[in-house]
Amino acid sequence: MTDYPQPDVAREEALRAAIDDLATAALRGDATQEELTAAIEAVRQIPIDTERMLNSLHVPSDAGEHQDVLRALLERIPDGWGRWIQCGAGWYPILARLNERLREIDPDYQVHQIKEKFGTLRFYWAGLNYDAGEAAVAEAETESARTCESCGNLGHLRTRRGWSRTLCDDCSRSEGYEDLPDDE
Ligand SMILES: [Zn+2]
Repeated sequence: MTDYPQPDVAREEALRAAIDDLATAALRGDATQEELTAAIEAVRQIPIDTERMLNSLHVPSDAGEHQDVLRALLERIPDGWGRWIQCGAGWYPILARLNERLREIDPDYQVHQIKEKFGTLRFYWAGLNYDAGEAAVAEAETESARTCESCGNLGHLRTRRGWSRTLCDDCSRSEGYEDLPDDE
């Protein structure tokens, strides 16, 4: 079941690809003004209904058995915030458990944003019993710091060219990440 017709999906993918190109050109540092202008133009030329895009439920394609709970989390995000889950599949079980706890704390709690930042989970929410909710969120974020974001096995913080991710040994090897220099 999809919440939006295929053309929107194609446009979103085109937009993501164009933004990736732009970011790559910008990060390279040696892109010419013409290359940057062309990359910006490519982004601007994709016709997209921003409001509709934000309000669509973007259930991750790798949701698997967590499809229902991820959909339920996305449905808790208010209009206009953008309904995405911006972290890897290894953390979906953490999100499922956190959702259970928050539902007990406040059945009507809202989700504002779910993402990875500096290698660990960030979960922004609003609701009643704020202190109890924050304690549950803090626990989930701490758990993410020892859980491989890709596969869910035991992991720790790794680095690759200035980017940080929490990964297990196998995933960090296959994705080219290394231990932090000051680790252990
Ligand atoms: Zn892994």
